[in-house]
Amino acid sequence: MIFSQMFDMLDVGIMILDSDLKVFKWNRWMATHSKILPEKIVGKSIFEFFPDLNAPWFLRNCKSVFTFGNFAFFSQKLHKYCFPFKAYNTLGSDFEYMQQSCTVGPLRDDNNRINYIYITVQDVTEVAAYEKKLINMNTRDGLTGIFNRRYLETKLEEEFDRHIRYNRPLSLIMLDIDHFKGINDNYGHQAGDFILKSLATLIDERIRVVDIVARYGGEEFCCLLPETTAESALALAEFLRMGVEAEIYHFKDKSIKITISQGVSDLNSNVDTAEMLLKLADDGLYEAKRAGRNKVSMISNKKKES
Ligand code: GH3
Ligand code: MG
Ligand code: MG
Repeated sequence: MIFSQMFDMLDVGIMILDSDLKVFKWNRWMATHSKILPEKIVGKSIFEFFPDLNAPWFLRNCKSVFTFGNFAFFSQKLHKYCFPFKAYNTLGSDFEYMQQSCTVGPLRDDNNRINYIYITVQDVTEVAAYEKKLINMNTRDGLTGIFNRRYLETKLEEEFDRHIRYNRPLSLIMLDIDHFKGINDNYGHQAGDFILKSLATLIDERIRVVDIVARYGGEEFCCLLPETTAESALALAEFLRMGVEAEIYHFKDKSIKITISQGVSDLNSNVDTAEMLLKLADDGLYEAKRAGRNKVSMISNKKKES
């Protein structure tokens, strides 16, 4: 009696299954979240209600618990969703389903035989939301929501090594808003922030999913372009330049226009570090500014040497 009350009061889902994987016990937590009452599910196969569990990963683990008396652990990170329950999102997370941590273990009778197994289901949505938030804070720029410099530098090292190993093309664009100080001075810092956000969106919408755009500094952005030749990168930079030039930014009652300057670099036989790739794009950017701004420039390191 006391145990059965406790079974129902716990803030964890608990069910007991027999050797045919029919439900023997189903606590109140499971009933609340699944909206399936014990009288409906007890005595029935768990697969009648959760058909996705009828899969090798689940069957294999249950069999092993019955045979060896070990414990098994599941989460949607490792497998599919065990019990797809609605998520109660806190901390602004947007999980469709409750994030769960499930344990399967043996229940022995007086003769030490395992006739039943139990499964516990813990709601870890809040922990997962914290984790997601931390990852976001570490990799995303707070103002624009695109990647930050740290993330870009990590990815650049990774992509550099990978592209060198497989001898594949890789390009980089460094991009800087022209006379941005003047925007802040004329329209205010808030207008400047609005433009930074809008520009980040504009770039993000024009690149491929595999490309990485990051806010590299104040009003400086960087696009890392895997599997992209210098020719294609130059074409993309020109496309961005024209897109930005044509855009009108409406902030409060003001209509603001901006231009950008860009430097492009690519992985060629004279580039042997990721820093060099960055430096060459930066040199290109400097050249674009020097040449009058609203320009795209690429400096070959051969030319630099001469
Ligand atoms: P150039 O064409 O040579 O790039 O000129 P510029 O005025 O864009 O360059 P400069 O480096 O002199 O000025 C960059 C400005 O960007 C100065 C700084 O106040 C502004 N800035 C940097 N970060 C932010 C930000 O987060 N928000 C706003 N509103 N302004 C920023
Ligand atoms: Mg600038
Ligand atoms: Mg700058």
